[in-house]
Amino acid sequence: MTNLLIFDWDDTLFPALISDIIIKETSINENNITFITIIIYNLLIIMNKLKNNINNKLVILTASRNNWVEISIINAEKLIYTNRHLINYNLFNKLIIKPQTESPYIPELNHILTQKNFISNFLLDIFNKNIYYVNILEKELLNSYETFNKYNSLFYLLLINKINNVIILGDSIENERYHTIKLIERFSHKIIKFIKFNNSKNHIDKIHEQYSFFIHLNNIINFDKSYIFDSFYIN
Ligand SMILES: [Mg+2]
Repeated sequence: MTNLLIFDWDDTLFPALISDIIIKETSINENNITFITIIIYNLLIIMNKLKNNINNKLVILTASRNNWVEISIINAEKLIYTNRHLINYNLFNKLIIKPQTESPYIPELNHILTQKNFISNFLLDIFNKNIYYVNILEKELLNSYETFNKYNSLFYLLLINKINNVIILGDSIENERYHTIKLIERFSHKIIKFIKFNNSKNHIDKIHEQYSFFIHLNNIINFDKSYIFDSFYIN
């Protein structure tokens, strides 16, 4: 393992607009279901690419609680599956990421929708035991009731993983971004990079963001010094 990627969940990999629809069960219409399907399908493409590099270790570190990552994946999948008749395939095909070469490749959406748990099995299998909750780490390691501040959890993940190339990905300026700056000083022997995601409430923005992230993935991983990237555009 030579690269450790630590993803935030809410608004980084998983836009709040999907959680809103899951929680409120409103706004179920062709547009929303199509956009949610695109975002989740793109997530499969991105994670598939990252996973196929055996040098990558993928981790989620979240300030959410009570198995929210697992629950939100399962619920997003259910939402797509139940409302699959609403998916606009023209829009879907226009906006999904189309990798040039991918092996093993992600099946076509039609095929995925014939297997009820494909999405959740795929994503949960990738992250496997590597979904960390701030409140649980804080309780176990420090007997503290901290639930939001990720500093100790990030510090812990950097300590237990003997990997020197670390990429921290998140949308929060005061949480992941701020702590990365401190961790760069603390772990001077490691290369630690922060990638800023936008917590945009707009579906299309999220889809563009996924696309640029996918395009720049290798550049970000291979960038050879500690750095704070507030956009995906790397010279
Ligand atoms: Mg977040």
